[in-house]
Amino acid sequence: MKKKLIAGNWKMNGGLAANEALVKGLLAGLGTPACDVAVAVPSPYLAQVQGLLSGASIALGAQDVSAFASGAYTGEVSAAMLKDFGVRYALVGHSERRQYHGETDAVVAEKARQALASGITPIVCVGETLQEREAGQTESVVKRQLAAVIHVNGHCISEIVVAYEPVWAIGTGRTASPEQAQQVHAVLRAQLMAATPHADRVRLLYGGSMNAANAAELLAQPDIDGGLVGGASLKAEDFLKIIAAAQ
Ligand code: 13P
Repeated sequence: MKKKLIAGNWKMNGGLAANEALVKGLLAGLGTPACDVAVAVPSPYLAQVQGLLSGASIALGAQDVSAFASGAYTGEVSAAMLKDFGVRYALVGHSERRQYHGETDAVVAEKARQALASGITPIVCVGETLQEREAGQTESVVKRQLAAVIHVNGHCISEIVVAYEPVWAIGTGRTASPEQAQQVHAVLRAQLMAATPHADRVRLLYGGSMNAANAAELLAQPDIDGGLVGGASLKAEDFLKIIAAAQ
C-alpha cells in the first residue's frame, strides 16, 4: 500500500522567526511518521527551511514553479532553481493561482511538465467553485483540469500527486464531507486508471479546511491518500495531529 502524504501549504505567511519556531515545533513532536510529510513554503524562505529540515523526515516544497525553463521572465522561479534548494514537491495550479493570477489549464500543465523535468513532483491542484458545484459541474470541472495535465505529461502521469481542493472549502471552515470528497476522488482515480496502468501509484490528496478534528475521517476514505493543509499547517500542534491521523 502506498504511504499517505500530508503536505502543509503555508501560503503567504511566515517570516524568519515564525518559520524557525514552527519547524522546530514540528521536529520536536514528529517522531517517525507513518506517512510522508512536506511543507510548501514561500520562495524567499526555501534556503532557510531547507537548513532547518536538514536530515529530518519532512520534505521541502514550493508553492509554485515557472512554466518556463529559464530566461527573461522577471519575477519567475524555475524548477531548476527550486531543485538547487532541495525542493521535492511543487504545488501547481492552486486555485488561488488560477483565480488571482489567471493560470489556465494549459499553464498549469506546463508547470507540471517543468517540475517533472527537474525531478520535482508536482502536486497538481484541481477543484470546483461553489457556483460550479451548485450547477452540477463538479465532475466535469475536475476532469477537465486533470485531463490537461495528463495530456501534456503523457507517460509521466504516474509521477504526479493530485490534490482535490474544492474552492468553497478553502479557508472557509466548510470542509467537504468524507463522502463528498471520496466521490470526487473516485472520479479522479478512474480518470487516472484510464490514462496509465500505474494509476494506483498516484496519491490523491484532499484539501480544504482539513484540521485536527476532521482529518482521520477524511483520510479513512479509500481514495484519499493524504491531505493538503493550509491554515492548520501553521500551528505545529495541529499539523502534528493531522500527521498522526494519517496512518
Ligand atoms: P485551508 O486548509 O486553509 O482551507 O487551505 C487549503 C489549501 O488551500 C491548501 O492548499
